[in-house]
Amino acid sequence: MRILVIGKGGREHAIIWALRKSARISHIYCAPGNAGIAQLAECVPIKESEFAQIAQFALDYAIDLVVVGPDDPLADGIVDVLEERNIPVFGPRKNAAIIEGSKVFTKELLKKYNIPTAAYESFEDYEAALAYVRKQGVPIVIKADGLAAGKGVIVAQTLEEAEKALREIMVDKVFGKSGSQVVIEEFLQGQEMSILSFVDGNVVRPMVPSQDHKQIFDGDKGPNTGGMGTYSPLPHIAQSVIDEAIETIIKPTAEAMVKEGRSFRGVLFAGLMITADGPKTIEFNARFGDPETQVVLSLLETDLIDIFLATINGRLQDMDIRWSDESAVCVILASGGYPGSYPKGIPIHGLDEVRDSVVFHAGTAEKDGQIVTDGGRVLGVTAKGAGIEEARAKAYADAERIRFEGMQYRTDIALKALR
Ligand code: AMP
Repeated sequence: MRILVIGKGGREHAIIWALRKSARISHIYCAPGNAGIAQLAECVPIKESEFAQIAQFALDYAIDLVVVGPDDPLADGIVDVLEERNIPVFGPRKNAAIIEGSKVFTKELLKKYNIPTAAYESFEDYEAALAYVRKQGVPIVIKADGLAAGKGVIVAQTLEEAEKALREIMVDKVFGKSGSQVVIEEFLQGQEMSILSFVDGNVVRPMVPSQDHKQIFDGDKGPNTGGMGTYSPLPHIAQSVIDEAIETIIKPTAEAMVKEGRSFRGVLFAGLMITADGPKTIEFNARFGDPETQVVLSLLETDLIDIFLATINGRLQDMDIRWSDESAVCVILASGGYPGSYPKGIPIHGLDEVRDSVVFHAGTAEKDGQIVTDGGRVLGVTAKGAGIEEARAKAYADAERIRFEGMQYRTDIALKALR
């Protein structure tokens, strides 16, 4: 089989790394890819947003399956464009990807089908939103409706923060069109958990659960990022809670999408909060999470291409999907300044000194034969072990072998599982 993967981050690197294990795959292309992906696949200089070029490439190179990594092309309908030209593609159509693309849509869906989530109101009018925030008080959560590169959610601890967020989203339009509506949501307290599932319409096949670390600094301090590290599974969370989330949130949501004529086919990512009243939905994403994918796919024992094909052909029900009983930890190495502005093109040293981890490239490029930084999140150092403690020790030992100017990482990834 000949595969084309769309994307250029750690998630796509992990997907390609997992696909590479399959004896059924002869060639993998990636558009546009990065310096790490280039070691496993042939990178082609087509951007994620260039749907016509992607379709033409898939036809010219006899691609058997296109796998779409990121949210933006899914929300913009890349799957519909490829399907119109009879190109097999893994990912949800535009009318299903809206579950990530519009928070207002998803909140209304959850409300209509009685699926547990935070209480909320949505607003198009700034003054009305402001009045609501003042009435509700803090802590409160403000969310831009549309996609905002993971930065459109503000958990406000003070009224000043909440008002500033509303002003930036609705008046200054820092996220453009994505901020023409906001969701204002009840603050949920508890442990967070991510469950990614393969979904082919009604059938939901959950992957091993994982936990991200959104904030930039240790102790969950500082602004939110795209994710600073993950681990899987979650030994401190009871299986009954995980099962409850699957039965009361994920399966009903997939069924609701079918009933709405928006059958979801691909990876459905549930961001959940385990509250005193049980698991509640924080958000859904319409694709593999980044960096959750790095740990989850490290633990997958079944051929990923078989799962992709079963998903797009509606055969997930009968699929035997096996997971390792080991643990995995991923530590993100980020550029100095991230999640604010940061330099690019900084040489990375020590990649060849890594011993026990797989290093997934999130934002790298090659310049004159040297691998350099090319994004906020640069590398994801991912290790497996008999338990979280062992995986964690290996990932951190290898993280310390890598160096670039300004490099920063959290030192407390996965500690919640050990305390
Ligand atoms: P999201 O981009 O929707 O995943 O939100 C980013 C982060 O904001 C989540 O991972 C949570 O840590 C936090 N968050 C979002 N919604 C809520 C909520 N209702 N209560 C508490 N924290 C939240």
